[in-house]
Amino acid sequence: MSMPLVVPWAQGLWQKLVRQHQESRLPHALLLTGHTGIGKSEFAQAFAHRLLCHEPTALQPCGHCRSCELLSSATHPDLVYLHPEEAGKAIKVDQVRELLQFLHNTAQQGGYRVVVMEPAESMNINAANALLKSLEEPGDNTLLLLVSHQPGQLMPTIRSRCQQVTFPVPAAAQASEWLAAELQQTPERAAQLLSISQGAPLKARDLFQRDLLKLRASLMTGLADLLKGRTSAVALAETLHKDDLVQLLEWFHSLLVDIARLQADADRQVVSNADMLKMLNAVAKKTTAGKLYTLIDQLQAERISLMERHNPNRQLLLETLLLGWVKLVR
Ligand SMILES: [Zn+2]
Repeated sequence: MSMPLVVPWAQGLWQKLVRQHQESRLPHALLLTGHTGIGKSEFAQAFAHRLLCHEPTALQPCGHCRSCELLSSATHPDLVYLHPEEAGKAIKVDQVRELLQFLHNTAQQGGYRVVVMEPAESMNINAANALLKSLEEPGDNTLLLLVSHQPGQLMPTIRSRCQQVTFPVPAAAQASEWLAAELQQTPERAAQLLSISQGAPLKARDLFQRDLLKLRASLMTGLADLLKGRTSAVALAETLHKDDLVQLLEWFHSLLVDIARLQADADRQVVSNADMLKMLNAVAKKTTAGKLYTLIDQLQAERISLMERHNPNRQLLLETLLLGWVKLVR
């Protein structure tokens, strides 16, 4: 594992938190909030490493102490990452109970113990309740670092027990400059990737590196073909449902939001999915706000059920939404 990265737009925050630690003013529980894909995860990881390192420099972990060695082999006993067991699902109470057991023990490397939980809003109610008490008194030299893309979905009692830190959003120019350098692409290409990633640079990088652009293209072509009657909702759902459904629904949602924007202000013409502007305009002209918001609500409900249900019928779920898409213009 290479040294985790602190993006340039978060350097100020980084220095602030390092200073808090140096002055022994670090709280037990930090809630790091902000949009998806702007660098929170990497930041949390980097901060955990800095805390666990035995000989950190002013800003960085040293990279060669025993603690850093354990970190680089991802076997540090005093660092726990808590994620949903499956992407898009809930963090369960059993996972939190295991965590409480970890917090009960003393640090094996004689320093800090750090827990990074992401995304914190994916804790179900039982899990959140189980965590509450530990948030107040997790023990000495312990940091619970909760990372949240949607802090509004967290229980207020969880939020109030954490010091909330808002992760900075990069300016557009800074984001595209960083992304272009990171991917060794032209600034134009970087700007294009950012546009379809809601301006989130790490999400854009992920999109590029995981080759998700092909999947996005299949969805966009498929949706355009559906409107033209060249394919059916059944056939398209059959083709797509085995892919990254959470990602597909996110793109679908962003298209619908674009259409709503165009309907509200036809002269606006500034949308996230600028490459699909022609299709978006066509749908915006033909559909009604009522139909559009019904579909947006339905899509949100399906995203939640995808997270909560054990074994959702993915194909049927997608098919229903695609039928809703066709109905927008019928
Ligand atoms: Zn070190």
